[in-house]
Amino acid sequence: MKYLPIFLDLTVAPCLVVGGGTVAARKVAQLRKANAQITVIAPKLCQELSALVDKKSIDYVAGHFSKTNLKNKMLVIAATDDAAVNQQVSELAKERNLPVNVVDNPVLCSFIMPSIVDRDPVQIAISTGGSSPVLARLLRARLETLIPSSYGKLAELMAKFRHKVKTKYPEMQRRRRYWESILQSPIAEMIYAGQGRSALDALEKTLIAEDDDIPQTGEVYLVGAGPGDPDLLTFRALRLMQQAEVVLYDRLVPPAIVDLTRKDAERIYVGKKRDQHALPQMEISQLLVNLAKQGKRVLRLKGGDPFIFGRGGEEIELLSAENIPFQVVPGITAAAGCACYAGIPLTHRDYAHTCVFITGHLKDGSMDLNWDTLIQPRQTIAVYMGIVGLEVLCQELIARGMSASMPAALIQQGTTQKQKVYIGDLASLPDIPKQHDIQPPTIIIIGEVVKLHENLSWFEPQSND
Ligand code: SAH
Repeated sequence: MKYLPIFLDLTVAPCLVVGGGTVAARKVAQLRKANAQITVIAPKLCQELSALVDKKSIDYVAGHFSKTNLKNKMLVIAATDDAAVNQQVSELAKERNLPVNVVDNPVLCSFIMPSIVDRDPVQIAISTGGSSPVLARLLRARLETLIPSSYGKLAELMAKFRHKVKTKYPEMQRRRRYWESILQSPIAEMIYAGQGRSALDALEKTLIAEDDDIPQTGEVYLVGAGPGDPDLLTFRALRLMQQAEVVLYDRLVPPAIVDLTRKDAERIYVGKKRDQHALPQMEISQLLVNLAKQGKRVLRLKGGDPFIFGRGGEEIELLSAENIPFQVVPGITAAAGCACYAGIPLTHRDYAHTCVFITGHLKDGSMDLNWDTLIQPRQTIAVYMGIVGLEVLCQELIARGMSASMPAALIQQGTTQKQKVYIGDLASLPDIPKQHDIQPPTIIIIGEVVKLHENLSWFEPQSND
């Protein structure tokens, strides 16, 4: 190992940065995060550094570097665009055994700056020994997606309880077991999901409990899987998918997404086709409760967003009544995803200032919609579940005053490799399913914005090759 990774306390430590450009400013920003006391030396400063000098956040010596600038310094960074100056800073610092970093020049450095995943107070520093900053950056990007952004809050909570836990479990082995079980319990997930208060209460309870075994309660994640393209999952969705031991999914979630769940997870299909529910809603909710009560981490994976025509609210009512910890992860809803992949902006300054999401469900052959609000100018309508009632919908809209030539699009299996976009208008839309073999799911977009598809279409699914 050429470089020893260490974490240096630089609080109010005098540090010197040679150079006044944007590269120097980046280094200054890093040092400021560590609360260092910074002096910058340079003949002139970029705007960003000047602003810091004005605010008295850093000291500034106008002029060229000389060895007297090194006096009483604890650390030095050379960030000028003059190779000779950088070399001189490096040599003089090394003579004094001062740690020195020269930007983008590992040979002149006695220390190098890592790529950092910052979850303060948790810090992950990545180094490739100066061989490939790009590799370090890629690695960092991977870690950023894996480690919840509120990981630091978890560390803070643990620090807060450290003393209490030590008092309850003086023996180190036992204490370690305690923390391990907490970190794998719903308490950690509560922190990541922004339920800090609940996490605190739950942690308190584990310490008051007489019994020193922490009950392993299960939990439920209600996760939106987006419209179909696996790349549209959120970081949190993916993390929870890889954590859950049981997965309940339905027909809207494509196999490519189900495949991203944990390999050893039990997968339960609770499929839903129109008019043909594999499991009635109540049974799904009850199943979620039962599994969580067995101590399992249960993932309920839903197409699009769980709270948009997804009955997500109904599924978690029972969980709430039974006091099962749960969280809800939003997903990209079909209207947003499909419109985007079809090159149809749902709003546009020239064409649409509002956008409404409706369902085109038929009840006894008619549609129970607030028609007046739908016949508004400069509005886009996204119709979910609209294929069966398409004819009725178009007739009603025209009968109530919308132009028969209002542009409309039918998007089949949006965002997937099987996406197909059919363009027409209100008059011709009902014929599209008669003339083509349309595969579900489909969404309908009605409004002037549909005209933009012709120029803005960008996605090229393989099925069109
Ligand atoms: N919660 C989901 C919607 C569930 S209702 C969401 O937020 O997207 C199911 C309807 O969503 C389907 O009938 C269809 O109209 C629409 N839908 C979902 N995924 C779709 C896709 N990939 N392409 C087109 N329509 C889709």
